[in-house]
Amino acid sequence: MQLKCNLLPQDDGRCGWYETLPAPPPVRGPLKGNVTADWVVLGAGLAGLAAARRLAELQPEASIALVDAKRVGFGAAGRNSGFMIDLPHDLNSHDYTGDVEADRNQIRLNRAAIDYIRGIVKRHSIDCDWQEQGKLHGAAEERGQQSLETFAKGLAALGESYSLLDAAQMKAITGTDFFRTGLHAPGTVLVQPAALVRGLGATLPENVQLFEESPVRSIAVGKPHVLTTDSGQIRSPRLILANNAYASQFSQFGFKGRLLPIYTYGSLTRPLNEKEKVSLGGQEKWGLIPADPMGTTVRRMGSGRICIRNSFTYNPAINASTGQLDRVRASHLRSFRRRFPMLENVDFEYTWGGALCITRNGGAPFGEIAPGVYSAVCQNGLGLTRGTNSGKMIAEYAVGDQNELLDIMLKQPKPACNPPEPLLGIGLRSTLAWKEWRAGSEL
Ligand SMILES: Cc1cc2nc3c(=O)[nH]c(=O)nc-3n(C[C@H](O)[C@H](O)[C@H](O)COP(=O)(O)OP(=O)(O)OC[C@H]3O[C@@H](n4cnc5c(N)ncnc54)[C@H](O)[C@@H]3O)c2cc1C
Repeated sequence: MQLKCNLLPQDDGRCGWYETLPAPPPVRGPLKGNVTADWVVLGAGLAGLAAARRLAELQPEASIALVDAKRVGFGAAGRNSGFMIDLPHDLNSHDYTGDVEADRNQIRLNRAAIDYIRGIVKRHSIDCDWQEQGKLHGAAEERGQQSLETFAKGLAALGESYSLLDAAQMKAITGTDFFRTGLHAPGTVLVQPAALVRGLGATLPENVQLFEESPVRSIAVGKPHVLTTDSGQIRSPRLILANNAYASQFSQFGFKGRLLPIYTYGSLTRPLNEKEKVSLGGQEKWGLIPADPMGTTVRRMGSGRICIRNSFTYNPAINASTGQLDRVRASHLRSFRRRFPMLENVDFEYTWGGALCITRNGGAPFGEIAPGVYSAVCQNGLGLTRGTNSGKMIAEYAVGDQNELLDIMLKQPKPACNPPEPLLGIGLRSTLAWKEWRAGSEL
C-alpha cells in the first residue's frame, strides 16, 4: 500500500508563542540517506513526542526515529492556547460535557496525561511557564450564562469541584467588566505551548533520533514500512502515525471524509506597558475559556501580552490562506476591543492558524490499523492532554502492555462517517457559521 502525503504542513501565519521564544537550537536532522529503526513515528507534535518517549522508556534498547516536516514546536502542538484541560471538553456540545460515564473516563485520562507531562517538566526543569491555576469560564450574555449553569450542573453530577463567580469577581481577575458571570475549575494547567513542546523535544531519551525539517512525501506500507523524504528514507517494521489532521488525506485507512481538518486561530498582542497594566487592573496571569465553545478564549500572560483565540474554519487542504488570516485577525481585534476598551492602543504582533482534527462523533481511530501501523491521530481539539495520551498509550499498546487506561482508549468510538464532498463542505461550513452566529457576544 502506498500513501501519498500531498498535503504537507505550511506556515499558517506567525505564531506568537514560537516567535517570542529564544532562537531555537540547531535543527536536528534533516534526514539524509537511509536510516533503519525498530520504530518510526510520523509527526513530532504532542502525540508523536509522547509516543517516541514512551517507546524509549518501555524499550530502552530499541531505536526510534521521530520525523517532522517542521521544527518541533512550530506545528499545532506549539500553536494552541496552552490549556492542559483535565475536564471534559466536547466542542460539539453547547456546554462541553456529555455522557457521565464517558466524561468520568475522559477526566481520568486527562489527569493521567497531566501527571505524565508534569513529571517530565519537573525532571528536566522545562521552562514553559507551567501554571497549576485552573481555568476560568466566562459568560457575557444570557445564553452563555445558561451554558455555564448547565456546565456547573454537569460538574456537580461528576463530583468535580468548581466555584461560581459574579461580575465583580470576574472583573477582579480579568480587569474587564465584560463578563456577567464566570466559573473557576481548579484542575487545568496553563503552559506556554511552544516552550513546552520544544522542551519535550529537547529532552527525548537517547535512543530517539529526531529528524526535523524532513517532510515525508510518501509511505510504502509493507515489511518494512518505508518513509521517503526529499533526501532520505526511513525503514522500520513498525510505524506510528501521529500526524493528526494531515492523516485526513489517507483514504486507504478510511480517514478521508471522517477525520475533519478544522482550523482555529490565535493572536498575541505586544506586551502591555506599566500604564496599560494599571488601567486594565486584574491579575497578572489567567486563562479563560468561553461559555460557548464557539466563543473567544483569552489568556493574559505574565509577560503582559494577551492572547485571543477564536474562529473555526473547515480547511480540507490543511492550510490557512492570507485572506483567511486577515479576516480572523479582524475578528480577533473586534473581540479584543469589546473586552478591553481601556487598551485601545494595543494591537496584535502575531496572528496564526493551526489544524485541529475533529470527528463528528468525537471518536478517533486509535489502535493498529494495518499490520505494524498504529494510529495515534485525532485529538478532537484537546491536544495537550488527549494528544499526549494518544501517543503514550499507542506506544504501550504497540509493545503489548495492558492497563485500565488503555482499555478506555481502545473502547472509544471509531470516527463516524460523513456525506461525501461537496455536501460535507457545505454542511460543515454552514454549521460552523450558524454556531458562530449563535455564540453572539461570547465571540
Ligand atoms: C489556535 C489553537 C488553539 C488551541 N488550543 C488548545 C488548548 O488550549 N488546549 C488543547 O488541549 N488543545 C488546543 N488546541 C489543539 C491542539 O493544538 C491539537 O489538538 C494538538 O496540537 C494535536 O496534537 P498532535 O500531536 O496530535 O498533532 P499536531 O500537533 O498537529 O502534530 C502533528 C505533526 O505532524 C507533522 N506532520 C504532518 N504531516 C507530516 C509529514 N508528511 N511529514 C512530516 N511531518 C508531518 C506536523 O508538522 C506536526 O508537527 C488548539 C489548537 C489551535 C490551532
